[in-house]
Amino acid sequence: MGGILAPGADMTGGQAAAGNAIPILAGQLRRMQRQVPALVVALAVLLVAAGSYAASQVLRHAHALAVETAEARAGSLARAYGEHVGQLVRRLDHALLHLRDEYEHDRSSFPARAPLHARLHGDLAFQAVAADAAGRLVFSYPVHLTGPVLVADRAYFHAHRDDPEDRLRISEPLTGRVSGQWTLQFSRPLRAPGGAFDGVMLLSVDPGTLARFHDASELGPAGFEALLGPEGMVRGGSRPDVADLLPLAVLRDPGQPAHGVLRHRGGDGSERLVAYRRLPQDGLVAVAALDGAVAMAGFQSHRRSVMQTALVVTPTVVVALLLVAWLAQRQARQQARLAAAQRELARTEERWRLALDAVGDGVWDWDATTGAVFYSARWKAMLGHGEDEVSPRLEEWETRIHPDDRARTREDVARHLSGETPVYANEHRVRCKDGRYKWILDRGVVVSRAADGTPLRVVGTHTDITGPHESAAALERQRAELQRSNEELEAFAYVASHDLRQPLRTIGAYLTLLEKDLGDRLDDDARECIVFARDGARRMDRLVVDLLEYSRVGRKARPSAAEPAGPILEAALAGLEVAVAEAGATVTLPPDPPTLWGDGDELMRLFANLLGNAVKYRAPGRAPVIRVTWAAEGGMAHFRVADNGIGIPADGLERIFGIFQRLHARDAYEGTGIGLAICRKVAERHGGRIWAESVPGEGSTFHVLLPLAGKGQP
Ligand code: ADP
Repeated sequence: MGGILAPGADMTGGQAAAGNAIPILAGQLRRMQRQVPALVVALAVLLVAAGSYAASQVLRHAHALAVETAEARAGSLARAYGEHVGQLVRRLDHALLHLRDEYEHDRSSFPARAPLHARLHGDLAFQAVAADAAGRLVFSYPVHLTGPVLVADRAYFHAHRDDPEDRLRISEPLTGRVSGQWTLQFSRPLRAPGGAFDGVMLLSVDPGTLARFHDASELGPAGFEALLGPEGMVRGGSRPDVADLLPLAVLRDPGQPAHGVLRHRGGDGSERLVAYRRLPQDGLVAVAALDGAVAMAGFQSHRRSVMQTALVVTPTVVVALLLVAWLAQRQARQQARLAAAQRELARTEERWRLALDAVGDGVWDWDATTGAVFYSARWKAMLGHGEDEVSPRLEEWETRIHPDDRARTREDVARHLSGETPVYANEHRVRCKDGRYKWILDRGVVVSRAADGTPLRVVGTHTDITGPHESAAALERQRAELQRSNEELEAFAYVASHDLRQPLRTIGAYLTLLEKDLGDRLDDDARECIVFARDGARRMDRLVVDLLEYSRVGRKARPSAAEPAGPILEAALAGLEVAVAEAGATVTLPPDPPTLWGDGDELMRLFANLLGNAVKYRAPGRAPVIRVTWAAEGGMAHFRVADNGIGIPADGLERIFGIFQRLHARDAYEGTGIGLAICRKVAERHGGRIWAESVPGEGSTFHVLLPLAGKGQP
């Protein structure tokens, strides 16, 4: 330990300066904290709103992107399909032109070469036929003609016949008259050498051949492909009901762009992205209808996951924020309570300090955790210091303690800190500013301890006891002086009375010798002188003996003991036997005398003196009646010694206890005036008291208080 207590950290001036700013800041913080729940709820609402908005924006964007992507995809499917159809048409047309060339070149050998030519188109067209200008079939391969077949009623026939242009025509789906199959017929006109219409050459194609390019994995289960003629009629489709599923009115509209994507809900209730592309050469329209559900599947799953995330995240965020709000509110409430408690504590401490300052005590408050000590203004003023002249450090007190008192103080503090003593209390001298020392009563108590018992905070008071201390010291000095002089006086009286008896005895002896030697020579006057001289010597001796006895009281230093009052009273009475008998006195002692605590001899002398006086100061012509009684009074025995003697006048009641004090002339009642002084000395030495009451002429009662033997004594 560097000092009396462990040295601690300083409480710096900066702390005091910051003292004003900190409560203001703390107040603002508390106000802010109270607003936290509302802020958090607002934040939650804002977050949820912002989250919802953000999610909807994301979804809208994703939807637009998905639509755009799907449309692009449908468009490219339609383009690919269109290109595929275009190529097939080109191939079929090429094959058709080749067949026509061959046919026109040599009609008679043409049928024989037909298998050869069929290699050009066999994978696409299942039938090749030629009709003459009248519409009669003149050639058919691979299914041969078995009879006359007319196609003059067919639309393509009319069209070719009426159109001077040589162009490819693709029929609507119809049933082939030779093959009996559902077919699309690709045809070109035949011309006579002069250029006149000479029939048609045609190839029959399965409509499905042209209408199937992408499979379901690309178009989706509800997706399909279809080929429309220039006039908007369906030429073929990957499913038979495509006419019901397409927005034909729009597709037929010549005002529509050459390609595009339409959203359309078909007759089956399914939504599709219908992408179309007009093939420039033939006026055909290639249509790829993408299953809407498939096209938007990515978006839908994205949307689902966004919604699911929102469903999970939103309540989580809201719950988390509400939790934060609740916690903040709870903390704010707790802090408010804490602040109120701290304010109350500060008020209490202030009251306490003011109260102690008011009664003049200095106050100190030691924070054992930081080592800082608060010294009250009164504490500083007590030592003559101003408010700013003592820093809040322990050394300020410790170094001011008088060097002679320091070790003792240190021990007392340590004993209290260790829990050995319930409070710390110590008187020591502390140096003032002017260099003088003041006596201080320093008291303190540990007001809080850590769980392991380490003291955390100790508070205490500083009381200036210089005045009382000095007057007590002066009183003590006086008392010691008085005792010393009393002892000297008593020693003197003892020695004097002892030594005085010897010359008195010598006087007595010589008087006796003188009487014997002179014998008859002494006349009556001389004899009377000798009697007076002897009487004087005897009284002198009596006086000296009484004085000796008086001075002996309390000198023997016999330890106090339990003394039964019965034997004491009886012994006192026994010593008066002759006088009692002579006076015809009646003495009654208490039937149940107590046990007293003290010196038996001295107590016996006290009672002997009182009983002796009661017999001696009897009224003439009245036999003495003496009664001794007692009663317990608060640990003391109250004795009463009552007589029916001459009594004592009121002004003598106190005086009679003084040494050599007598109320009567020596010739009336023999005595030295020391007996009652001895009684008072004995009573007071035992911690008791003696006093008298009397009705003059009727009797006196002497009261004595003496300690009872009891539990308090060893
Ligand atoms: P002494 O008896 O030797 O004179 P004490 O000190 O015993 O001395 O008594 C002092 C005086 O008190 C006596 O002289 C007497 O006048 C008075 N006194 C004492 N006891 C009684 C008593 N019982 N009745 C009347 N007077 C008394």
